[in-house]
Amino acid sequence: MTPAASADYPRIRPTLMERFWGRVRRDGRERAGIGRCWRWTGKMQDGYGYFPHRGEGSRMAHRFAYEALVGPVPKGRKLVNVCGDKACPRPDHWSLGDG
Ligand SMILES: [Zn+2]
Repeated sequence: MTPAASADYPRIRPTLMERFWGRVRRDGRERAGIGRCWRWTGKMQDGYGYFPHRGEGSRMAHRFAYEALVGPVPKGRKLVNVCGDKACPRPDHWSLGDG
């Protein structure tokens, strides 16, 4: 029996969520009262974590994490960093501010 050609197997790709969370480490700096920061190990843009991907539009890492774990950012609002590390994607280290 000969091994099947590799084309016979489906190509296994990580999901969008697997790709994203694979770039997050939850071992950042301990912050008084709000717990440890998360570290973004992916691309950066202007000091923010940046998660480029096709299809649904690229996002800043903190925004992607917030939308994944909390929900959409309402229109006219923005996320304001509260931990002092704007690359930190931990959702409760961001609060909703006015646009
Ligand atoms: Zn943080």
